[in-house]
Amino acid sequence: MKGDIELRGKNLLGLNEKEMAKIRGKEIAIIFQNPSLALNPVYSIGHQLAEPLRVHRKEKKKSALSRVAIALKHMGFENFSECIDYYPSWCSGGMNQRFLIAASTILDPSLLIADEPSKGLDRKCVDELEAELKKLKLERKTALLLISHDLGFVQRLADRIAVMYAGEIVEFADPSSVFEKPLHPYTRGLLNSLPEKGFIPIPGISSPLSDLSSGCRFHPRCPLREKRCIEAHPELKEINGRTVRCFLYP
Ligand code: SF4
Repeated sequence: MKGDIELRGKNLLGLNEKEMAKIRGKEIAIIFQNPSLALNPVYSIGHQLAEPLRVHRKEKKKSALSRVAIALKHMGFENFSECIDYYPSWCSGGMNQRFLIAASTILDPSLLIADEPSKGLDRKCVDELEAELKKLKLERKTALLLISHDLGFVQRLADRIAVMYAGEIVEFADPSSVFEKPLHPYTRGLLNSLPEKGFIPIPGISSPLSDLSSGCRFHPRCPLREKRCIEAHPELKEINGRTVRCFLYP
């Protein structure tokens, strides 16, 4: 592996653990899948949401808790003062997801990484989550890095989509290009496997990252593979403002 990870012009790979700890949770925050497991079951919601303020801003407990109440109010909880004393096991998955978003964004991070945030949530909770994430993007200008298999959710939230297969980007474009004119055979296969497109699965299974085939990583499953696909690994190429990794595009 090689490369840099830059945040506001700073290469994060060059920072030591102490410098990184100042950035984690403050400038970069994350929300994990399965909110009920991501929250600590033995601490109250108020305690968990106040923690970033106490650690990064050294706020006293009372002032941190009053800021937590404001954050919960912004998140749409009418009974925000009571929520402070709730425990995760008392709450629904949707409520816990909103508590997690409030915890992750209480310090106004520049970047929020959301890892499969809609997984395991019912339709109503997914709609609420989508509205919250849109609000964060538009009102607080938080950059959102969304990692998801939920294609509809991605289409509605993303400005740009990177389709990944076996650990590498195979296509990168805006949502309408990806969904209306997909270029890479894997992207086309993904879209065809959606219920509304006929539920046609991609044949085979993806290879483990420890045992990748030579050539194009998608070639064992690709209906369009040629001899060169087995022999050489395609690089990402720019085509009309889009990026794709496939020999079919000159
Ligand atoms: S490079 Fe070849 S095998 Fe890979 S996606 Fe393109 S056509 Fe298929």
